[in-house]
Amino acid sequence: MIKVNQLKKSFNDLEVLKDINFEVKRGEVLSIIGPSGSGKSTLLRCLNFLETPNAGTITIDGLTVDVENVKKQDIQQLRKKSAMVFQNYNLFKNKTALQNVTELLIVTKKMPKAEAEKIGMEYLAQVGLADKANKYPVTLSGGQQQRVSIARALALNPSVILFDEPTSSLDPELVSEVLQVIKQISTKDTTMIIVTHEMDFAREVSDNVIFMADGYIVEEGHPSQLFGNPQQARTKSFIQQLN
Ligand code: ATP
Ligand code: MG
Repeated sequence: MIKVNQLKKSFNDLEVLKDINFEVKRGEVLSIIGPSGSGKSTLLRCLNFLETPNAGTITIDGLTVDVENVKKQDIQQLRKKSAMVFQNYNLFKNKTALQNVTELLIVTKKMPKAEAEKIGMEYLAQVGLADKANKYPVTLSGGQQQRVSIARALALNPSVILFDEPTSSLDPELVSEVLQVIKQISTKDTTMIIVTHEMDFAREVSDNVIFMADGYIVEEGHPSQLFGNPQQARTKSFIQQLN
């Protein structure tokens, strides 16, 4: 479903992704953990060309892009295959919760407004926010705003949802409602890649976990293996330092 091969990305002289290879099967959840600056966000952003990688290939749901030889059209196609949930929600401030969810359906997918609103309401209900459809982001808590942004991602029906630390700007008491929603989605057949510092959560929802450091995948495995019995010294010390 998703395959990343020999992916490389530098910012000037700084090599941030050095040789990244991994696969995610349809319906699976991959979590990516690792120290600050290890390249986790850059990796996610390369998957939808929010950052332009320098080398390698990316395959998502049947479309393979060779990043050294890519057409604008391919980038547009690839972008349609994923939806991203950001740390800071990135909601449109001047649109209601429902309008945030329907905006791309109407503008990009050219869906009639009534149909978009019907779908929008279904996904708002799924994240427990049907009663907040007409509220503006400023009147919602951080946890509610993040749930709107998850509903927005789901409504696009992408091949994969990319989460970049979806709970790290939330007050501690709001973290669990968002993790709960993501957990609930993870039991359906949505394919997800989640960058997170929430280790208990990663352990619970993931089919696979990648530990990244210095632009490399240091270790990859089933959560029980990677958290319970890490093989590499760097993985061990990273996990120990969290406990
Ligand atoms: P964190 O856990 O703090 O979010 P991360 O693993 O997501 O870290 P990245 O944001 O991917 O790390 O950054 C990896 C490296 O790339 C860092 O050294 C960062 O300073 C650098 N970097 C990221 N984006 C840019 C950019 N647009 N221009 C220059 N350097 C960048
Ligand atoms: Mg990051």
